[in-house]
Amino acid sequence: MLFRCKNCGGNVIYSPEKGDMYCPHCDGIDSGEKEVSEEKTICVNCGAPLELKEYNSTCKCEYCGSYIIVDERVSGAYRPGLLLPFRIGMKQAVELLKKEFKSRVFTPGTFLDESTLEEMKGMYVPFWMYDYGADCTYIGQGTKVRVWTGGDTEYTETSYYRVVRKMGIDFQKVPVDASIEMPDDVMDLMEPFDYNGLEDFQEKYMSGFYGEIYNQKADELEGRAHQKAEKDAECLLQETLTGYTTLIPEQKSIKMDPKATHYTLLPVWRYIYKYQEKEYPFYVNGQTGKIIGSTPVSKKKVLAYGGTVFAAVWMALSLVIGILEIL
Ligand SMILES: [Zn+2]
Ligand SMILES: [Zn+2]
Repeated sequence: MLFRCKNCGGNVIYSPEKGDMYCPHCDGIDSGEKEVSEEKTICVNCGAPLELKEYNSTCKCEYCGSYIIVDERVSGAYRPGLLLPFRIGMKQAVELLKKEFKSRVFTPGTFLDESTLEEMKGMYVPFWMYDYGADCTYIGQGTKVRVWTGGDTEYTETSYYRVVRKMGIDFQKVPVDASIEMPDDVMDLMEPFDYNGLEDFQEKYMSGFYGEIYNQKADELEGRAHQKAEKDAECLLQETLTGYTTLIPEQKSIKMDPKATHYTLLPVWRYIYKYQEKEYPFYVNGQTGKIIGSTPVSKKKVLAYGGTVFAAVWMALSLVIGILEIL
């Protein structure tokens, strides 16, 4: 399907800046009408053959530039329940990347140059999100020791405690990416997303962007969500166990009870920069603007550029510059 403008017949896309459907041909707002296609391998607009991979749910026609949504890949078992619309447009994503990298990392003048922005794509990444109820129990022996001096004598007082904690935690929408194209470690670093922006899925949000269907089912990926949530439960439990001089555990259990799963699409900008025959991907969270970059130092090393890992970032950046000078 595509969204066609009621005013001028052009392809209407979703504009993150306007927060609405927008026709770039006649500046019409909310002027799009759904046009369903019979044949998924050709463009609804011009009839040209579409280059579709088996996991693409949308694509851009190479001949007329229309954004086509593949009906059968957004329906039935593949119909997402929720979607987080792009809030950051391409212009802003480029500005964010420039601000973060241009002066520091790459000396080549083509980095984020107009001619290389063909490789900048807004993509809806498929995620499974899991809800859990967690039941945490902790029983242990704790002591608190108090020492003071009176005259020439030092006094020690030891108090003994039976430490019991019972805690329930509701986890909502623990995300795990189900994408073929996006590396798992990068997607984990994309978090957090602000779930307040989640909308019920509608095709219109996908017009102007690329999309994928999930490549693994919810139960195949559940283990990763389970681990994430259990780790968080463990931390929350530990936070309640401070203040003792010694603490010996007798019983500890965290029971995770899966409640629900949600098939959700989340927005990510990806820019692949090609330099001396190598590819360097950079990612921007399409909602929050958080930036993830893969450095040339090692293909596997992925760093988040944010306040919390500042020291690591600077170390890595100096390595990057070193390598580029050698090249
Ligand atoms: Zn129009
Ligand atoms: Zn076309």
